[in-house]
Amino acid sequence: MPNVSEPEFQQAYKELASTLENSTLFQKHPEYKKALEVAAIPERIIQFRVTWENDKGECCVNNGFRVQFNSALGPYKGGLRFHPTVNLSILKFLGFEQIFKNALTGLQMGGGKGGADFDPKGKSDNEIRKFCVAFMRELSKHIGADTDVPAGDIGVSPREIGWMFGAYRAQRNRWEGVLTGKGLDWGGSLIRPEATGYGLVYYVQHMIQYASGGKETFAGKKVAISGSGNVAQYAALKVIELGGTVVSLSDSKGSILCDSGIDADLINTIAGLKVERKALSDLSAEGKFTYKAGVRPWKEVGNVDVALPSATQNEVSGDEAEALVKAGAKFIAEGSNMGCTQEAIDHFEKVRKEKKGDAIWYAPGKAANAGGVAVSGLEMAQNSQRLKWTSEEVDEKLKGIMKNCFENCLETAKTYITPSEGEFPSLVAGANVAGFSKVAAAM
Ligand code: GLU
Repeated sequence: MPNVSEPEFQQAYKELASTLENSTLFQKHPEYKKALEVAAIPERIIQFRVTWENDKGECCVNNGFRVQFNSALGPYKGGLRFHPTVNLSILKFLGFEQIFKNALTGLQMGGGKGGADFDPKGKSDNEIRKFCVAFMRELSKHIGADTDVPAGDIGVSPREIGWMFGAYRAQRNRWEGVLTGKGLDWGGSLIRPEATGYGLVYYVQHMIQYASGGKETFAGKKVAISGSGNVAQYAALKVIELGGTVVSLSDSKGSILCDSGIDADLINTIAGLKVERKALSDLSAEGKFTYKAGVRPWKEVGNVDVALPSATQNEVSGDEAEALVKAGAKFIAEGSNMGCTQEAIDHFEKVRKEKKGDAIWYAPGKAANAGGVAVSGLEMAQNSQRLKWTSEEVDEKLKGIMKNCFENCLETAKTYITPSEGEFPSLVAGANVAGFSKVAAAM
């Protein structure tokens, strides 16, 4: 590990390394210890200056990055994040997680991540477009359909992907599937916008079915969700479609809470609000829900069965994890990357072991939210073939990928850490061992 302070990256590395060390993986494959040491260092980091002009004609400057972490399984693949908090520690943690997440999809994709410390909030459309073009001016030199294929993440929606894709075509004079999350008219895949949220719910469906011996589904379950962006919106819509009740959504300023259920109309209104870069506090409640400023939903929701953190990293603290367990939550799965702090994971895992059959069951983002990048992989496949699959075809493939991902985590956990009688296998350990060993073998 480098001797610099990279708290988010160190957290992600330690979380992975400690579960590998607590499994029998290194006994069976002593050579994988060295693979872990090697895999902890990105193959390449590109750091660059992005200069762009604001609406007043002034020159502005930001830091741009692309972390090309690991290409053992395929071209580097992972999103671009535009957010003022972006720095190398955050991008290294995201890129590191992405390596193993991509491995868990079963598709041939390496891991990477990039972005800029640019804040789209308060910027005009014209300024964001100019920033995207300026960002791609440098990034285009380092990416390509068989080299590195970025996509969206926080602050980068299909609109920004469109501006960057146009800039890439203009600068490189070639049409290729160099970005995913594209619009449907110019090479995008059906179901890509929905994929992370839908995939998350498909994954949890398998958790519920396994835990209940096939008796239960989402029907009648109360589901707390955080976030209100793309992942949270489509997770919420899928939960509602499957008969569950969504009792919360949130953004960086506060939470909306509704014990009787947030409906699909309200989610569609929120989607429109987000396009205008407005906050949930701008919604008019009209008795439909309660808005609480300055809080995350976890301590505010009443009894829940499922919690889906889908906002950003470290959004569930140890205290909040305890509150969720007390509120009756049985299934926790991350729509966000590293949504839970280590303290929260430790608490969920402790309860899983203690309560055995009736325990909390926690699924990490690298498994539970892999549906987004999985459909990005399907978009790459369609682009290479110059084909377009139907919604049904893509959704079926996504369901299959999430099922395999769940079964792989479950079976790997059983193989490498024998659960005691009545204990659910650890999906954290299963995801880490399964994702890492695939990459290590390829390396
Ligand atoms: N940003 C998403 C993730 O964290 C998607 C990445 C992609 O589609 O390449 O997995």
